Amino acid sequence: MPRTLLLHHAQLLLTMDEERREIPDGAVFIEDNRITQVGPSDQLPDTADEVLDMGGHIVLPGLVNTHHHMYQSLTRALPRAQDAELFDWLQHLYPVWAGLTPDMLRVSTLTAMAELMLSGCTTTSDHLYLYPNGCRLEDSIFAAREIGMRFHACRGSMSVGQSQGGLPPDRLVEDEAAILEDSLRLIQAFHDPAPYAMTRVALAPCSPFSVSRDLMRLSAELARAQGVGLHTHLAENHKDVAYSRERFHMSPAEYAESLGWVGPDVWHAHCVKLDPAGIELFARTGTGVAHCPCSNMRLASGIAPIPQMRAAGVTVGLGVDGSASNDGAHLLGEARQAMLLARVGFGPAAMSAREALEIATLGGARTLNRTDIGALAPGMAADLVAFNLGDVAFAGAQADPVAALVFCTPPRVAASIINGKVQVWDGELLPLERPLLVEEHNRLAAQLLAAA
Ligand SMILES: [Zn+2]
Repeated sequence: MPRTLLLHHAQLLLTMDEERREIPDGAVFIEDNRITQVGPSDQLPDTADEVLDMGGHIVLPGLVNTHHHMYQSLTRALPRAQDAELFDWLQHLYPVWAGLTPDMLRVSTLTAMAELMLSGCTTTSDHLYLYPNGCRLEDSIFAAREIGMRFHACRGSMSVGQSQGGLPPDRLVEDEAAILEDSLRLIQAFHDPAPYAMTRVALAPCSPFSVSRDLMRLSAELARAQGVGLHTHLAENHKDVAYSRERFHMSPAEYAESLGWVGPDVWHAHCVKLDPAGIELFARTGTGVAHCPCSNMRLASGIAPIPQMRAAGVTVGLGVDGSASNDGAHLLGEARQAMLLARVGFGPAAMSAREALEIATLGGARTLNRTDIGALAPGMAADLVAFNLGDVAFAGAQADPVAALVFCTPPRVAASIINGKVQVWDGELLPLERPLLVEEHNRLAAQLLAAA
């Protein structure tokens, strides 16, 4: 017998299903880790092993974060890197990050995931591209299992140091053969291709200015042979484009295509400076984009042409990006910023609140090449979140609670269910003792700074 969980009497259920149903007094019936029924409360069973009354709440699919560097939660708001653009910002931070330890990696991943879960996120990716002092990707995979979050772990890498014309210091880059060997080891040990997988692995050479063409090409070959995704940074700002033109004599999109880095199994972070030919290429090939509006504003990288991408048919998901370039990782807040930034760039009709929510749910699922998350419908994974419509942030916005999620100040979630398990209830994160986690995180952050 499956274990059953019923959420009912939600003031409003935002399904994001094919008809985009918004159901007043809505209910969701869950068996183990899957949704089996969705509809008005009076049409669903009224008993289950566990029954949660969601009166006064809006319930929606868990949000999906497609780009992050969780270790950076140890170096937020660092004075030396507060007011710089991407390349200078990186140069300020690389020497600090060189002191990262496995313990710091575990704790910062837990902290970053706790913050994301409290903001409505149930699935996240993380792009870890430096491995000093014995750090390994599984330090973050084990942290995800500890906190119960659905996780796409990206085996990042850097192989071209300053002496070879790259941006990172030589002591932070790895040997390319060792990167590929470790990539295969991680896929074999941790990647789960099955539906409802809690752990997937992707290969993620860091950026055009920190890895070689060979590593990009060989990573793509390995990923395709193993059936895993590919992720990197692309066309983040004008200097990134200039580097690509100078060194490779190609636009970032042409460079990606020349290396096999397009397709539904590939997603690129930022793409602020993706040109019209690149947009057309991404749409034609099903290549995904992780849009990170806060980070793009923080580093003054520019305004990504998201409305143009979506009109052309490009898959777009949302990313908070690393905590050193978006010092707040609130994924619903990121959806709000996506809507506002699109309007600054392209006018008041450039993105609606519902479009922002679509990008944060279905868009993220498609970006990560998943069909089992991002909507509330029978057969989907049981990943749901609830926000309390009685929160002061929503006072006076009852005329349209769905739009209120994006227009009003985003609060923390009231409840979060991931893979059928209640992980946040009444605003409290159940798997962890939060104050203790922050204390430990701050102690390790101070240690990292002192060592730099
Ligand atoms: Zn990034």
